[in-house]
Amino acid sequence: MAPAPTHWDLAVVGAGPAGAAAAVGALRADARLRVALLDRADFPRDKACGDGVAPHVLDLLAEVGVSGLVDDRVPVERLRLGRGGLTVERRMDRPAWVVPRRVLDARLVDAAIAAGARLLRHRVRELRQHTDAVVLDDEISAAVVVGADGAHSAVRRALGRPRGPVGLALRGYAPVAPGRRGAQVIEFDTCHLPAYAWSFDRGDGHANVGYGELLRADRRAPTRGQLLERLDALLPGAAGNGRDWVGHHLPFSTARRRPLTGRVLLAGDAAGLVNPLTGEGIYYAVATGIAAGRAAAAALSAGRPQRAGERHARTIRRILLPHLRHTAVAARLARSARIIEAGLRASAADQRVFDDLVELGLARGRLTPTVALGLGRALVAPAPPTDLTREPA
Ligand SMILES: Cc1cc2nc3c(=O)[nH]c(=O)nc-3n(C[C@H](O)[C@H](O)[C@H](O)COP(=O)(O)OP(=O)(O)OC[C@H]3O[C@@H](n4cnc5c(N)ncnc54)[C@H](O)[C@@H]3O)c2cc1C
Repeated sequence: MAPAPTHWDLAVVGAGPAGAAAAVGALRADARLRVALLDRADFPRDKACGDGVAPHVLDLLAEVGVSGLVDDRVPVERLRLGRGGLTVERRMDRPAWVVPRRVLDARLVDAAIAAGARLLRHRVRELRQHTDAVVLDDEISAAVVVGADGAHSAVRRALGRPRGPVGLALRGYAPVAPGRRGAQVIEFDTCHLPAYAWSFDRGDGHANVGYGELLRADRRAPTRGQLLERLDALLPGAAGNGRDWVGHHLPFSTARRRPLTGRVLLAGDAAGLVNPLTGEGIYYAVATGIAAGRAAAAALSAGRPQRAGERHARTIRRILLPHLRHTAVAARLARSARIIEAGLRASAADQRVFDDLVELGLARGRLTPTVALGLGRALVAPAPPTDLTREPA
């Protein structure tokens, strides 16, 4: 006879930022919980990413007692946005960080273990929901499960939930080009939109470089060679000098959300929460991970684990829905080269427009009246005599 599955209060599938944050969120709410953190990989492990970490991510983690993650890293103060010779470069309201995911994710997993989670190497293939528990692969049972297993989530598929729009991006590491030092550089594509190349200075002589685009039903997905070609066209030298190339899908968020109920919750990429403007997903992974962990803990302590999904859905609606609506509108607008260029001009003319757009792209910002006014003015104004609108350093 097969041994009975090991039982946990909470099983978190995937130990990336969403999963580690879910484990910490649950254990900070109730340190007595038995929490299993399952991942198919051993840590440290790499993950295809631009490695850009918004300061808001650190704020969220500090709220659950996780600090010191970037103490040995160099902050990046400046952001440069460009398209076809039109460029704006400004200081960000708060510095961002560029932390290789091999480092960041291992630190987050350590924080989850320190909070009391058990890290188990396990690839989840099957999920069955019973009236009193959820069983994973006949081996692990839990009162509540959080699916934090990324863009190709097995948990999401087991729930029969479809995937929304997806992007594809390729990332490598290259010596940082002299003109791109100390900055996060984003160069929008001149061939098609939405698509951009990036170079994010890690602060150690190397930059995370890459190129990504939205996949469209009417076009074949680009090959690795085509992605590298676009990267080098937009940021000359980045592709030729790069190494450690890896590609991955990005499940972009939309404003249409069908809330989950029951004992199985989703967080991060598994819930389709990458910002469609910027490809930023770590903030949403950590925010929804913590929310999922807290919802699980609250439902368990109320003796109603079957209501965890409803609690989680309510929190996500409250903290993210207005932002998701605004990013959905902005992402549609950003398919137009005219709008992108108006955004660059408006950001060059007014630091507040720049700051609001950064907030919209990195965390929970909205399309503010300042942005709308700035875009409107830039759209009706004649183009300036020179295309270079860079703020003095
Ligand atoms: C090229 C690229 C560049 C990006 N750049 C940025 C950026 O600069 N900044 C930013 O904020 N975001 C960026 N993103 C998005 C960001 O990488 C994701 O949004 C983020 O990793 C989501 O975290 P997560 O924990 O939800 O999923 P993941 O980080 O993907 O973690 C999922 C975990 O689940 C595990 N797993 C998967 N399947 C199973 C299974 N069946 N059983 C057990 N374990 C499983 C995996 O091993 C993994 O550890 C980028 C994405 C790409 C592809």
